[in-house]
Amino acid sequence: MIPLCCALLLPGCNGHNTRAARRFIDEHVARIAPVAQAANLAYWEAATSGEAKAYDRYAELELQKRRIYSNPEEYAFIKKMKEQGGLKDPVLAREIELLYLSYLPNQMEPELLREITSLSAEVEKQFSTFRGTAGKKRLTGNDIEAILKTEKRTAVRREAWLASKQVGAAVAPDLLRLVRLRNKAAQKLGFRNYHALSLAAGEQDQKELDKIFEELYDLTNAPFFALKQQLDAELAQRFHIRIEELQPWHYQDPFFQESPMLQDVDLDGYYAGKDVKQLAARFYQGIGLPIDSVLIRSDLYEREGKNPHAFCTDIDRAGDVRILCNLTESERWMETMLHEAGHGVYSYYLDRSLPWLLRQEAHAFTTEAIANFFGRLSRNPWWMEQMLGLPPEQRLKLEQVSGTYARLKQLIFSRWAMVMYEFEKELYADPDQDLNALWWTLVEKYQGIKKPAGRDEPDWAAKIHFTIAPCYYHNYVLGELLASQLHASLVKSVLPEGGGKSASYVGSVQAGAWLRSRVFAAGALYPWDEMIKRATGEPLTARYFVAQFVN
Ligand SMILES: [Zn+2]
Repeated sequence: MIPLCCALLLPGCNGHNTRAARRFIDEHVARIAPVAQAANLAYWEAATSGEAKAYDRYAELELQKRRIYSNPEEYAFIKKMKEQGGLKDPVLAREIELLYLSYLPNQMEPELLREITSLSAEVEKQFSTFRGTAGKKRLTGNDIEAILKTEKRTAVRREAWLASKQVGAAVAPDLLRLVRLRNKAAQKLGFRNYHALSLAAGEQDQKELDKIFEELYDLTNAPFFALKQQLDAELAQRFHIRIEELQPWHYQDPFFQESPMLQDVDLDGYYAGKDVKQLAARFYQGIGLPIDSVLIRSDLYEREGKNPHAFCTDIDRAGDVRILCNLTESERWMETMLHEAGHGVYSYYLDRSLPWLLRQEAHAFTTEAIANFFGRLSRNPWWMEQMLGLPPEQRLKLEQVSGTYARLKQLIFSRWAMVMYEFEKELYADPDQDLNALWWTLVEKYQGIKKPAGRDEPDWAAKIHFTIAPCYYHNYVLGELLASQLHASLVKSVLPEGGGKSASYVGSVQAGAWLRSRVFAAGALYPWDEMIKRATGEPLTARYFVAQFVN
C-alpha cells in the first residue's frame, strides 16, 4: 500500500520522510520489476519469433506498467517527497527523482492520453500504408530511394521527390491535431508545451540544448558550406545544369540527410569471409569487456519471421542482456554488431550493487554514444588493419577514403539534425504559424537547399519522427557529440602518446576499464550532464566532434 499519510507530513520531518520514501520505493520496485522483466521477455519473444501472441502479451504488460506509472496519488506523494522531502541520502533522493520523471509524462488526463495514443497510431498507420504516386505509378519508399540514388533524368527525380512529400500533405491535418493535443495535455501538467514536457522528462533543458546546438552550428557552418559548394559543383556537372539550377531532388535522398555515395568506398569487401560475431567477441575480450554471456543469450542470424533490424535489450537489470541482429559478412553488420554490443557492455557492466531504479543507463543518448563510439570502429582503418590482418598499404588506402566519407556523413547529418531540432521546437511553441514557410527557411539556413519556386506544402510532415518519436531527434546528435568527447578524453588520458588519430582501441584494456569505471558503473546515479562532467572533466560540447570529423 502507498503510505498516503506521508503526503500530509510537515516538511523537515527527515527521518520519517526517509523511511516513507524508502518503503514506497521498495514496494514500487517489488511491483514494477517483475512486470518490466516480463514485458522485456515478451518483446524479445515477439521480435525473435514474430508470433502475434507474444506481441499481444507485450502490449498487455506495457499497459500494466503504464497503469502503475499513471497513479495520481503515488505521483503526488513522489512530487511532495522530491520538493519538500529534505532527503539527505543522495542515492535515495536520486531514486525519488527518477521515479518522478517516470510518473510525470504518464500523468496526462486519461481521456486526453487515449485520444493522443489512438490519433498517433492512426497517423502512423497512414505512414505505413500511404504510397506516393508519380504520374500513374505508385512508388514505395524503396522505389523513391533507388531513383534519388541512381536516376540521371531530372524530370524523373523531380517526380520521385514530389511523391516522397505527398504523405506530408496527407497526414499534416491529423499531425497538427496531434501536436495541439500533446500541447494541451502538457499544459495541464503545468508545462509551456509538449516539447518542454518531453525535455523535462528526459532531464534536458532547452537553454542547455540550444547552447550545444548553437556551438555545433557555429563550428560546422564554414566547413559545411565549403563542402556543399564542392558537392553542388559535382551534382551540377552530373546533371548538366548550372549550380543555381540545383533543386532539392538533385540530392541523394528526400531530406538531404545522408552523405552521397562515393564510388571508391567498398568496405563490404573487407568483411567478406569474416566472422563478424567472432570479430566483435575478440575485440571486446581484448579491451577487458568480454561479451560472451551476452552472446550466449543473443539471436544473431536471419530467420523467417524474425525482426529484420537490430537492438539490444537489458531484460532484468541483473546481467541478462541480449542482442538481436541479422548478421551478414558486411561492413554494415560489423558496425551494427559493434554498436549493439556497445549498448550491451554499458548495461552488462553497470554496478549491480546499485538499487534497481538506478541500474540503468544515465540517458538514452549516453548509451547511444557508447554504441556509436564502438560502431564507428568498423571503418576505422587502424582497427581494420589489426582486426582483419590487413597489410599496411591497404590501411593507407582506407585512410584516404574512409576519412572523407566519415567527414561527409557527419557534417551532412549534423546540419540536417539542426533543422529537425529547431523546427520541432517551433512546431510545439506555435503550431498556428506558417509551418510550411518555416520549414524551408530552416532547410535553407542549415542545409543550404532552396525551396522550389512557389512551393507551399507541408513538406515537414513527411518526416515520420514528428509522429512516432516526438521531441527525440536531438538525442541522435548528442550521442554523436558524446562519442567524440569520450574518444578525446580517452586519447588524452589512457592511450599512448601520439595515439590520437590512429586510435584503434584494439587490446586496450585501459580504455575498457576507463569506460567501465567512468561511464557504465554509475548507471543512473547522476543526471547525464553530471556524469559527463565527472567522466570527461567538462560539460557536453560539440568541440570534440568537430575536431574529430570536421577540421
Ligand atoms: Zn543504438
